[in-house]
Amino acid sequence: MRRGRRGNFKTRLFIGAAIVIFALVRNWSQREENPYTGRVQAISLSPDQEIAIGLQSAPQMAQQHGGLHPRNDYQALIDNVGNKLVQSSIAKKTPYKYEFHLLADNKTINAFALPGGQIFITYALFSKLENEDQLAGVLGHEIGHVLGKHSNERITDSQKWKTIVMGAGAIDMGQIAQQYGHGQLLQNGRDDELESDKLGVHFMIEAGYNPEEMIGVMQILKAAAGPNRIPEFQSTHPDPENRIEKIREAIRKYKKAS
Ligand SMILES: [Zn+2]
Repeated sequence: MRRGRRGNFKTRLFIGAAIVIFALVRNWSQREENPYTGRVQAISLSPDQEIAIGLQSAPQMAQQHGGLHPRNDYQALIDNVGNKLVQSSIAKKTPYKYEFHLLADNKTINAFALPGGQIFITYALFSKLENEDQLAGVLGHEIGHVLGKHSNERITDSQKWKTIVMGAGAIDMGQIAQQYGHGQLLQNGRDDELESDKLGVHFMIEAGYNPEEMIGVMQILKAAAGPNRIPEFQSTHPDPENRIEKIREAIRKYKKAS
């Protein structure tokens, strides 16, 4: 027996719509205000889960970058600056366990944070920094990713889009949904960077560092990119000029408040 094409389409449309609505309702129910940034975001992991994921992935991340750097004095400086930023800011009031690691990698200019507080900087980036304030800028930015719960939010986002793509697939619109979702994730990734820059500037001021040096960090990243090569730290990042402009805004805002 052959079913009419229209009836078939109606059924698929109904199923597809139900799946998309499920994804949106679930995402809506996951929304909550971040107590440290005040921003409402959809998240699906508890702080304990974030910390566990970070601790679990940390050894592998280190291994991908040649392991930890052997110089204890450099590592001590990084610990010192990182802890100063945490102790003098709202980061101290979070349940996260902040740990700062210098990676041996001397080729990849990069710094990154895992959920829950594991923070890394490669020697390639560390060796380009001109002063302690710039190091504070990099680490402050990464602390911003942690308490901004950005990984948590992106994991939750991609779950949402996976389900939406499945639902849209019922009426052969999966690919369009996927492209749209990908664009959204990239845009949100850029917003994360801007929020982390802003938080980083705030932490720098609170810890007594010169926030202008965050601009110095941007210039180092820009110069390191060269005409064709984009360092990983920047690959999902917004245009550096736009970032610098927002950093200047944040400096004006937080300097006035302090
Ligand atoms: Zn970042």
